[in-house]
Amino acid sequence: LKFDDAGLHPAMADNVRLCKYTTPTVIQAYCIPAVLTGHDVIGIAQTGSGKTAAFLIPILSKLMGKARQLAGPRPKNRDERVCAEPLVLVVCPTRELACQIFDEARRLCYRTMLRPCVIYGGAPTKNQREQLEKGCDVLIATPGRLMDFMSNIKLLNLSRLKFTVIDEADELLSEGWEDVMDKLFQGSSTNQDGDHTYLMFSATFPKFARKLVKDYMEEDHVRI
Ligand code: AMP
Repeated sequence: LKFDDAGLHPAMADNVRLCKYTTPTVIQAYCIPAVLTGHDVIGIAQTGSGKTAAFLIPILSKLMGKARQLAGPRPKNRDERVCAEPLVLVVCPTRELACQIFDEARRLCYRTMLRPCVIYGGAPTKNQREQLEKGCDVLIATPGRLMDFMSNIKLLNLSRLKFTVIDEADELLSEGWEDVMDKLFQGSSTNQDGDHTYLMFSATFPKFARKLVKDYMEEDHVRI
């Protein structure tokens, strides 16, 4: 696969060039076409494999074509606050990883209508809340802080999600976030339009991750 032949939205192709990614990594070569054709994906991948771009590039590329119609509410003036209604949710175990994913999302959303936001624990909620209230299409979150914000449906509404990505699933599971993950999968399996793509990345593939795949992901998912 070459980025130029992958059928990416022109704005995404530009941003990939700006990131100076010339050749897709192995996981990108498999994951990008699979997501573009609407498959759920399970990827066994380590940090450093390029897995972040492997899911962000095709997901954001698909949304770019429809961003004008799909993008959630945005404030009409500086004082207005809106409810964040993201189209993409990425859940990962640590603040560092969340910030890295956010950074990459910001570069790949450059000059588009799509607005990334990041929320994580161990920091005051105020600033994160203010960011969400400006509108959010791509939410990157650690699980505890996500739960905090989800309890306030006027601030964060996940009913429009089209893509849910669980990154470093084995880490999340070993930290005891099974219930949260189960809830996320349940809550988001039916969005308004009935279409929802799940992606799960993990260095290993523990039993609970296999259960989530069996219970919630499409039969024809792609394993990488
Ligand atoms: P990750 O495995 O997602 O943590 O990515 C590791 C690093 O590789 C990040 O700094 C990315 O910016 C970079 N990267 C991702 N994809 C590519 C690519 N196709 N070519 C060169 N660098 C890349």
